[in-house]
Amino acid sequence: MYKTKAYSAASATSPLASATIPRRDPTDRDVQIEILFCGICHSDLHSVRNEWSSFIPTVYPIVPGHEIVGRVTQVGSAVTKYKPGDLAAVGCMVDSDGTCTQCQAGLEQFCKNTTFTFNSADKHLGGVTYGGYSDSIVVDERFVLRVPANLNLAGAAPLLCAGITTYSPMRHWGVTKGKKVGVVGLGGLGHMGVKFAHAFGAHTVVFTTTPAKKEDALRLGADEVVVSRNAAEMQKHAGSFDFILDAVSADHDINAYLNLLARDGNLTLVGAPSKPLGVAAFALLAGRRSLSGSNIGGIAETQEMLDFCGAHNITADVEVIPIQKANEAYERLLKSDVKYRFSIDMASLKAG
Ligand code: NAP
Ligand code: ZN
Repeated sequence: MYKTKAYSAASATSPLASATIPRRDPTDRDVQIEILFCGICHSDLHSVRNEWSSFIPTVYPIVPGHEIVGRVTQVGSAVTKYKPGDLAAVGCMVDSDGTCTQCQAGLEQFCKNTTFTFNSADKHLGGVTYGGYSDSIVVDERFVLRVPANLNLAGAAPLLCAGITTYSPMRHWGVTKGKKVGVVGLGGLGHMGVKFAHAFGAHTVVFTTTPAKKEDALRLGADEVVVSRNAAEMQKHAGSFDFILDAVSADHDINAYLNLLARDGNLTLVGAPSKPLGVAAFALLAGRRSLSGSNIGGIAETQEMLDFCGAHNITADVEVIPIQKANEAYERLLKSDVKYRFSIDMASLKAG
């Protein structure tokens, strides 16, 4: 075991603050990574403030962060894919049983024994796992990903959650050329959704509550932008979408979007507001529409997504911040004031 610097919160109402945490010494199968950048996901905020207490209660202290890129510093003797000096990435998961039907299908995110990057039981050290707002992390090789060399590292970090969470359902639901696709909420996830829908050749429409994001949405690849608070603008799109990705972090009227789906259209929720959303039966019955959810993506698909991003030069649009600004960044997320992902330069942790 060794100690490393981190930022952690002591309770749901405490700010993130400097801390020292333990990490295991790498086992034969482990890769030790010096963390260079870590994205700030709204899930970090939900977890730090225990907003998902009914589903995944937070254990304190919590070290959030699951959009990790860095450099390999040490590998165990059985590690074959990485060597010291390589770029490497870690997303939302650091382990799973590897034997169940979900793992066999490459869907480790649905394994009953998945170890998530933070706030999951730590089978090595006891207690819970600690995430990427830290200097270094030790992860089983099976959960370490390769970062294409051409990608900007600060912008690549958010691909590990915001990227795969939007890429995976779009692949699953067949987003492609000729499809009309909506993306609701232009935050970290939403802006990656726009980039992927555009890259897949779909006609892409952004729904935003923030009129000032209109020009950015077009620059990011949207063909049209709708200010969702404007009922007349919404009505123009009634019954016309093949697929809508809902990436909103807070309570909102989902029926307004279900009504925009065409026959057999699907709305997939990736946003995870803490309170249940009310669904009007008739919004689904009319047109045999469906509503579903999606949770990140498996490891193989995450690598596929990273390679796709390498080939198409896709990264997140990031505002790079020192870790000392993490609390401020959380407050800005709550005001939808994010363009379009905060990426923490982890060198600031060493300095601070
Ligand atoms: P984010 O960067 O804060 O973006 C959320 C966006 O939602 C905002 O920028 C805003 O976009 C919109 N929004 C916020 N409050 C709203 C409200 N009251 N009504 C309507 N729209 C509102 O968050 P994120 O990191 O992208 O995460 C989004 C959600 O996905 C979070 O709940 C997060 O926990 C969840 N998540 C799920 C998964 C998964 O695997 N399913 C993975 C990662 C994150 P506009 O300004 O454009 O309206
Ligand atoms: Zn996330």
